[in-house]
Amino acid sequence: MSTDFVFSPHAAASLPVAGTDARFPVRRVYCVGRNYAGHAREMGSDPDREPPFFFTKPGDADAVIAVAPGSTAELPFPSQTNNFHYECELVVAIGKGGANIAVADAASHIFGYAVGFDMTRRDLQGKMKDAGRPWEIGKAFDFSAPVGVLHPAAQVAGIENAAITLAVDGATKQSSHITHLIWSISETIANLSTLFALQPGDLIFSGTPEGVGAVQRGQVMVGHIDGLTDISVKYV
Ligand code: MN
Repeated sequence: MSTDFVFSPHAAASLPVAGTDARFPVRRVYCVGRNYAGHAREMGSDPDREPPFFFTKPGDADAVIAVAPGSTAELPFPSQTNNFHYECELVVAIGKGGANIAVADAASHIFGYAVGFDMTRRDLQGKMKDAGRPWEIGKAFDFSAPVGVLHPAAQVAGIENAAITLAVDGATKQSSHITHLIWSISETIANLSTLFALQPGDLIFSGTPEGVGAVQRGQVMVGHIDGLTDISVKYV
């Protein structure tokens, strides 16, 4: 007998997986703050003294937007912001859960990788930061986490050395390498898993390099990481 709900259950977010028609069902979205020295500095922090810290975005289909390859996703520009920022990030998808994962074992928990944007209402985030309040209104709004095709880890060579770039209307704004992560992917998984039991379906936005900035309505943002599928997104 099927369960009788008082209204239809919300659709879960999922991502396409390269090389298969099967999709990756998303559970939670964890994000690492200030994980590149250059970005920590541009946000007014000392990159040398901070352990990793985390925030979350919703894992539902309102926030996590699967961006189809070869086209530009057109998303609604968010409300209540005059300083809407892009942050291009390597997204790590968890395929095997665990708590207190050792750094040496962390790679075995990775399903794959994608390019994602941790879109941010920077003005609202700043107000909340100044007041010592949570960041949700700056980070966890609808359409705040566009993500591209997931590439299974076994099919991606050398992600730890990959270049990561973001361009707005063809002009490069962010350009770095995954090698510049303060906390490596494995260290991030290990640390995060001491705080939350990770589960298959979790996504980790690993942090953005320097060069974040505002995007205007209609401007096309292209995110690139070597070895992965680019994403192209505009907010209108
Ligand atoms: Mn970020």
